Amino acid sequence: MRSLLLPIFLLSWLFPGFAHLGFTQTTPAQDSNKLAPQLDHFDPKNVDPSVDPCTDFYQYSCNRWIADNPVPADEVFWGSFGKLQLWNEAFVHQTVLVVAAKPAAELTSVEQKVGDYWSACTDEKQRNATALSSLRLQLQRIDAMHNKSEIADVVADLHRSVPGAWNPADVETNAALFGFGAQPDFHDTTHVIAQFDQGGMELPGREFYLNDDAKSVEIRTKYVAHIARMFELSGIPAAQAKLDAAAILTMETKMAKAAMEIVKRRDPKNLDNEMSLDAVKKLAPSFDFSRYLQLVHAPATTGFIVTSPDFFRGTEQLIQSETLDHWKAYLKWQLLNGLAGSMSEDFVNEDFTFAAQTLFGAKQIQPLWRRCIQEEDRDIGQALGQAYVARAFPPESKERVQEMVNALKIALGQEIDSMDWMSPETKKQARVKLAGQVDKIGYPDHWRDYSALEIRPDNHLANVQRAAAFELDRQLKRIGKPLDRTEWGMTPPTVNAYEDPQTNTINFPAGILQPPFFDPAKDDSVNYAAAGTVIGHETIHGYDDQGRKFDENGNLRGWWTTNDAKAYEERGDCIAEEYTEFVPEAGVQQNGRLTQGENTADNGGIHLALSALNADLKGKGQSLDTKGEDGLTALQRFFLSYANIWCSKLRPEMMRTVLLTNPHPLDKYRVNNVVSNMPEFAKAFGCHKGQAMVRENACRVW
Ligand SMILES: [Zn+2]
Repeated sequence: MRSLLLPIFLLSWLFPGFAHLGFTQTTPAQDSNKLAPQLDHFDPKNVDPSVDPCTDFYQYSCNRWIADNPVPADEVFWGSFGKLQLWNEAFVHQTVLVVAAKPAAELTSVEQKVGDYWSACTDEKQRNATALSSLRLQLQRIDAMHNKSEIADVVADLHRSVPGAWNPADVETNAALFGFGAQPDFHDTTHVIAQFDQGGMELPGREFYLNDDAKSVEIRTKYVAHIARMFELSGIPAAQAKLDAAAILTMETKMAKAAMEIVKRRDPKNLDNEMSLDAVKKLAPSFDFSRYLQLVHAPATTGFIVTSPDFFRGTEQLIQSETLDHWKAYLKWQLLNGLAGSMSEDFVNEDFTFAAQTLFGAKQIQPLWRRCIQEEDRDIGQALGQAYVARAFPPESKERVQEMVNALKIALGQEIDSMDWMSPETKKQARVKLAGQVDKIGYPDHWRDYSALEIRPDNHLANVQRAAAFELDRQLKRIGKPLDRTEWGMTPPTVNAYEDPQTNTINFPAGILQPPFFDPAKDDSVNYAAAGTVIGHETIHGYDDQGRKFDENGNLRGWWTTNDAKAYEERGDCIAEEYTEFVPEAGVQQNGRLTQGENTADNGGIHLALSALNADLKGKGQSLDTKGEDGLTALQRFFLSYANIWCSKLRPEMMRTVLLTNPHPLDKYRVNNVVSNMPEFAKAFGCHKGQAMVRENACRVW
């Protein structure tokens, strides 16, 4: 999933992985039972009667929720998603405590890893005593470099010892200089090949280096000061640390200039550059690719996807223009920054001040228990997820969600048939793609085998580094093998979902199939509006501005007639323009081109969910106009439940970072833009032309 084609998450930005975003309480940190929030359940009484739903449906549906749910000091956004995430973490925490309390002799091998990872992570005394000394050898190795030809050796070492080198496009992860991983061939997905992606920059996006507004300048000034303080903590004298920090900003800025910009990366054609190793070497002759591939343990392979050849040409210039000392500083920064959250308290706190406070607006660091559950989820998430699934996701839930997925697919089939702007030829192909789409619900059929990974109770950082090597090996072992469509890219307790165009799969972790998204106690109108629209959203991703370029087997192949493609793009332009808007609270513009896929998925997904609900009600002798005990029609409940899942509040810093770097629009637009495109909404609430929630030029793709 986390292939270079920026995986199309529903909400990937929710956990920007500076693992220290989060929630602090005055209650004892270990007591996650008390920390678990009450999950939200749909309640139509929560509307704000002082607002007209036809003027601002988001305010009408969410004002009271927002007033009743202030953002906790250590959260950077707060909404149903965040609450459920905290609930899931507290739940997982309880299962970990049970394991950690068992006598060693009674533990299974998976339980030993879960328990020992936890013990080492939460032992701050040990972390404070050992973190920096654990990295001493690697830091000395960098200091001992004699020649820039050794950059390849160090980059390989960093990729094997810092999490995420195979996935540099994820804000969550870290890749020194560039990313290296496995990816299906764009034109033959049965064949997994190697992939080089741009990376190496620690600010969230290239705009952070290149924009020159006051806020961007302020963030860069703080970034340099932060790098210098991290170096000082590692023992580098202050004056030298300052010089090194300035050199690092210069180097990363050059990388940002060479990197492909984020909207351009949305078109898979721009990433589809398959090359021989010789051709890769010609992009950056000063980087020893052969040595790198050997040291990183890459299997022998002939083809390499290079997502951004210009970025690697820039790498060549960077190697030539920067001194060896600057390279040493950059590589040390990559090591320290990539692991800071797993180190001693001084590093953890310094990392928090920049990565969580400056970039996202957090006021307080999360408690240790949450940071450890999140790290454990990243490193051995399928070990951790087994107990979660057993307790939190009963088979009845899976069955009900499966029925909803089936109903949504039927709805999309009917939608395709009824399109008045699409030719029979394209419709036929769209149907073939739909029939080939695989859905995965809750958790994997086969759990990952962690037996080759050693986890010990005595050194947290060493566990994190071994887990990074284990995961990179697992990724690289895919090269040259057939594509495995059963593989999961998210862990079971994750509150998110994704579609992967190259495997043609939609994936719904158990973590999101909980209230208020999936609520077994609530009626169909509520569930189709929440879980149903999430399923619809991911289904439609297969047919958004990116997804539609891939066929039923995940191959990049134009299956649209020229006229139909043109008609699609006109509709896509409508959506993109509708979401392009300056956001005063954040001081930047929402870019409808960047969010086009998500907008398409939101707008199309809700139509599928509504149509599936309609069919479901008909089968029960009811209709969308049938009133419930609360006096609301099923259609009104549907729209209210939909709006409720997006009630949230974001800190302005978070908002700005999201708008600049993330393909998802802000929650307010996910409600108001969607409903104002729908005549069904106007009908439900009696809205008429001229009111804000009834668009004169409504957009409709799916
Ligand atoms: Zn999405």
